[in-house]
Amino acid sequence: MAGQTLSEIRALLAGRGLSPRHRFGQNFLIDLNLMRKLVHAAALTADDVVLEVGPGTGSLTELLLEAGPRVVAVEIDRGLAGILTDRFADRPRFTLHNCDVLAGKNEIAPNLIAALEDARARSENSSGSAAALKLVANLPYQVATPLLLELLCRTPRFALLAFTIQKEVADRLTAETGTADYGPISVIVRIASTVELLADVAPAAFWPRPKVESAMMIMRPIRNPPIDDLIGFAALVRSAFLHRRQMLRRIVARWDNATAAITALEESGIDSAARPQDICPDAWRRWHQSLRAAERT
Ligand code: SAM
Repeated sequence: MAGQTLSEIRALLAGRGLSPRHRFGQNFLIDLNLMRKLVHAAALTADDVVLEVGPGTGSLTELLLEAGPRVVAVEIDRGLAGILTDRFADRPRFTLHNCDVLAGKNEIAPNLIAALEDARARSENSSGSAAALKLVANLPYQVATPLLLELLCRTPRFALLAFTIQKEVADRLTAETGTADYGPISVIVRIASTVELLADVAPAAFWPRPKVESAMMIMRPIRNPPIDDLIGFAALVRSAFLHRRQMLRRIVARWDNATAAITALEESGIDSAARPQDICPDAWRRWHQSLRAAERT
C-alpha cells in the first residue's frame, strides 16, 4: 500500500457506483510524490496520533498507516466511508468517524475530540510520554479556515499541522499587515504558530482538476503561546475584522464594553483611527491583554 493511482481511485469509486462530489470538495490528490512529501514533512513516529480530515478513498491514509502512528480519520461522505471501512477495518491503529469534522461553525465534532484523547491515552501507555497530536490532510476547502482556527486555539495543542489548501487561503495564512489578504486568520496564525509553504500544487495534481491553485503548508503551533486565552483573542480579532474598512473607534463604539475597549487601545499604543488591517499581530496581542486586565479589575 503506497498511495493510490488515478485508475485505482476510479476503480474504488466505480466499485460502489460513486463519482466525485463537488459539494464535498472531492478532488483527489493523484500526485503521489507530493503526497509523500507531505507525509515526510510531518515526521511521523509510531507514538504520534494523526487526525486525517477527509480521507476520501484512503490514498493518504495508506501512507500515514505505513509510517506507524494511530490515525483518527473523519469522512463526511457515507459512500467513501464504506470504501474506507472495507480497506482499513482490520487495522487496529485506524479509527473512522463518518461525520462532519465540524459540529458547528467554529467547533470540532466532540466525538472526534474524544477519539483523539482516547488514541493519545493509548499511545501514552505504550511509550510512557505524551503522544504528539498531528493533523495530516488534504483538506476539504470549505472547512479549512474554521478548522485551522479551531486547531490553533484549542488544547491540547497540536504539535504540527501538515495540509493542502487552496492557494488563496494559504496566502491569507501568511499575509503581512496592511495587505488585502491580511485578516483574522493571519493574526491568529502569527501569534499561535510558525507557518511555512512546503509546495505549490497545480490543479493537475488532483482528479478531478479544481479550478484553483493549491498549496501544501506546514504549521507548527507554538507550545506556550504568548496568549493564554486564544479563543477569546480570536473572538476579539474576528469581531473587529467584521468591519475591516472602518476605524477601530467606530467599530468598538457598537460593543457593550466600548469604553474599556477604547481605553485599552490607548494603553496599548494603538491609534483608534487605525483600521483592523493596519494593526500588526503584536499590537492585537497588547490590545487583548489590556482589555483582559481591565475586565479583571
Ligand atoms: N484524502 C483524499 C486525497 O488526499 O485525495 C481526499 C481529499 S478531498 C480534497 C476532501 C475529502 O474531505 C473528501 O473525501 C470529502 O468527502 C471530505 N469532506 C468534505 N467535507 C468534509 C467535512 N465537513 N468533514 C469531513 N470530511 C469532509
